[in-house]
Amino acid sequence: MHYKRILLKLSGEALMGNRQYGIDPERLAEYAQEIKAVTDKGVEVAIVIGGGNIFRGVAGASRGMDRVTGDHMGMLATVINGLALQSALEDAGIQTRLQSAIKINEVAEPFIRRKAMRHLEKGRVVIFGGGTGNPYFTTDSAAVLRAIEIHADVILKGTRVDGIYTADPEIDKAATKFDFISFEDVLLKGLKVMDTTAFTLSQENKLPIIVFDMNRPGNLEKVVTGEKVGTKVN
Ligand code: UDP
Repeated sequence: MHYKRILLKLSGEALMGNRQYGIDPERLAEYAQEIKAVTDKGVEVAIVIGGGNIFRGVAGASRGMDRVTGDHMGMLATVINGLALQSALEDAGIQTRLQSAIKINEVAEPFIRRKAMRHLEKGRVVIFGGGTGNPYFTTDSAAVLRAIEIHADVILKGTRVDGIYTADPEIDKAATKFDFISFEDVLLKGLKVMDTTAFTLSQENKLPIIVFDMNRPGNLEKVVTGEKVGTKVN
């Protein structure tokens, strides 16, 4: 295996499938199978899940809600998604633990780094919910933070596009894909990979990021075996 321990970042929107809102159980089951394919190979998998399919703090703030309250709702949304993902993974026969950055002890373990690492060593998939536990952050930042903390080899950002393009491929048909790109070039070219806080945290800690299409079956396995899939930033 090319990577021994990975941090997979899935956005909340990825869980919607073709819906406009919420969680698509079929999509969850597909993801569970993709993840099983790599855990079966002995890869240690940690997952940070977003909440955008349910609530985003900025959306609340734009309608007059206090931003911090909105962010609290967003963080709780990630815990809901974490529970859904945990259930789908366990249906697929994978042992999991959900750890939350905000205390919600009846529902999820609190985030304890050493415990998380122990779970990974035992082959359990660890899902990190609650983002960073702080308002004004995103789950991309949580993903980079947790990846560094648990010494992940790489952060895999599963999206619906197959990598980083010169422009948005869903708008500009002439856009071309990068196989590799440096952190500096992403910033110089003003490309959107993650929000700035998350991106610079990754850069400062020399944590490579691979952006790839999570919806293409077999892709996750290809990434962890080192096949050239998506775009690698390092
Ligand atoms: N959030 C937060 N702090 C964090 C992570 C998330 O306050 O550390 C809130 C924020 O309101 C955000 C929402 O949770 O809009 C959902 O997370 P995100 O937008 O990152 O989800 P994704 O885009 O990955 O679905």
